[in-house]
Amino acid sequence: MTSSSLPTRRPDQPIRAPRGSALSCKGWPQEAALRMLMNNLDPDVAERWEDLVVYGGSGKAARSWEAYHRIVASLRSLESDETLLVQSGKPVGIFRTHLDAPRVLIANAMLVPAWGDWPHFREYEARGLTMYGQMTAGSWIYIGTQGILQGTYETFGACAQKHFGGSLRGRLVLSAGLGGMGGAQPLAVTMNEGVGLFVEIDRERIERRLRLHYVDRATESLDEALGWAEKARRRGETLSIALHGNAAEVHTEIVRRGVRVDVVTDQTSAHDMLNGYVPSGLSAREAATLRTGNPQQYLVRAQESVAQHMRAMLELQRQGAILFDYGNNIRREAENAGVHDFSYPGFVPAFIRPLFCEGQGPFRWVALSGDPEDIYATDRALMEAFKDNEHLVRWLSLAQERVHFQGLPARICWLGYGDRATAGCIFNELVASGRVKAPIVIGRDHLDSGSVASPNRETESMRDGSDAIADWPILNALLNASAGASWVSVHHGGGVGIGYSIHAGMVTVADGTPEAARRLERVLTTDPGTGIMRHADAGYPEAVEAARRHGLKLPGVTLP
Ligand code: NAD
Repeated sequence: MTSSSLPTRRPDQPIRAPRGSALSCKGWPQEAALRMLMNNLDPDVAERWEDLVVYGGSGKAARSWEAYHRIVASLRSLESDETLLVQSGKPVGIFRTHLDAPRVLIANAMLVPAWGDWPHFREYEARGLTMYGQMTAGSWIYIGTQGILQGTYETFGACAQKHFGGSLRGRLVLSAGLGGMGGAQPLAVTMNEGVGLFVEIDRERIERRLRLHYVDRATESLDEALGWAEKARRRGETLSIALHGNAAEVHTEIVRRGVRVDVVTDQTSAHDMLNGYVPSGLSAREAATLRTGNPQQYLVRAQESVAQHMRAMLELQRQGAILFDYGNNIRREAENAGVHDFSYPGFVPAFIRPLFCEGQGPFRWVALSGDPEDIYATDRALMEAFKDNEHLVRWLSLAQERVHFQGLPARICWLGYGDRATAGCIFNELVASGRVKAPIVIGRDHLDSGSVASPNRETESMRDGSDAIADWPILNALLNASAGASWVSVHHGGGVGIGYSIHAGMVTVADGTPEAARRLERVLTTDPGTGIMRHADAGYPEAVEAARRHGLKLPGVTLP
């Protein structure tokens, strides 16, 4: 098909990635990129596939439908020694490289720093020149809400460990936002044995989480929600409740009633006030109308609400709740709205950084066959290989029991340096021996130790003050491309919004060949290795020790 004869509009039928072991491209790395792009837009996976939005406010997989069709056609014709370049969701070039080079290189929403803010971004976006790629939306490795589930489970688990003797039993967690990421919160709280109340303004999002069994019950009534929560808390039972309402209003009412809340956080898309945060007094539909009709007024009202929302969370903190930021930049937006004189940590310095020092983070993989049995085979292989790691085995068993797949079957778990390369080789072997029916793609989130500069999140309060130094994610991307990842991406603004982060992604395909085994061994070593390097360089003793233990060569660090 010539590019002029390609479709330019949204497909009539919803998108679903091909399944099975037959290729529609000229090699598995290209096929994997194609299936993962399509999987990101599968209606079971994407929050708003019709608008190409995968998750996280307006995080997209392709810039426009025309660009989407061109990417698909490019991947189908791409040779195994060529590399496709994608500029903010639009394919712009194909160059001859070599067999071990990435098949796709992606840059999303990058702006020259002095132009790196939402107003400039919106202007360029309106002119069709850029796209917001969030994290795994524009890097084609989103796997639905499971993608954040283990991180959320670990975060609430670490919070329970630090403040409540290891369990959330008998504790009430209050949060808001049941979107692509936020939807993991209810299940993560009940997996930690607690009770959770989650405020969500969009009824459809609530329905979706109920359907996927991420939340237990839903109601329109605060009285009913609090009644259920109190009963479960008293009995030490687990329960997650979705409450249809606006967080600014509901949280304020909870404060007024003097309800005892043990933990409070937030997962509305406050990083993008225009697209992701609904002002009080409006339904989701009314908000959509005001957003397009009068964006200025929308922003003024959203700011007033975020201020009210923040004041309520701070009041709950004063009354004894543990308050932490869960990576949506609401602290900055509340400051912009005039709420000052507060201080509470982000979840990374509060709970996650010790794991980052070991190069640990959310490692994920997807069965391109589409057969859930292939994921169960990988689960079994990992449980066998890491049988001494009780935490991991418990997680994989819980995930098998509780996680409903969205789109292509996938799994996530936190693994660090050394173990990731081992897992990659195990998966490649499963493909080579035919124990799984088609190749497996291996990637990770951008909530990661070595590939992110995000001063309000992953790199908040770094020991050496290097929070905003963004050389690290660029080095991570360059190194992973050199090591032979199948696709590599660099992004601006994921998680916390334009102006607040630079980060990189990578995906590598296990297609069962010896070449893939070598690439996997290299990439799954360089990638977590940069996490240890970044934290050792910042002076974390745990990372310095990990570097020594693993024999990393770090000329910038004096190893013990
Ligand atoms: P999303 O846009 O899919 O969902 C946000 C939800 O919040 C929507 O369902 C929306 O209806 C709801 N909402 C907005 N304003 C509300 C209000 N005032 N009251 C009640 N509900 C309201 O976003 P997502 O993918 O769930 O991500 C949530 C946030 O978390 C984003 O800011 C994202 O960047 C950030 N994030 C965090 C992590 C992490 O590791 N913690 C990872 C990725 C993204």
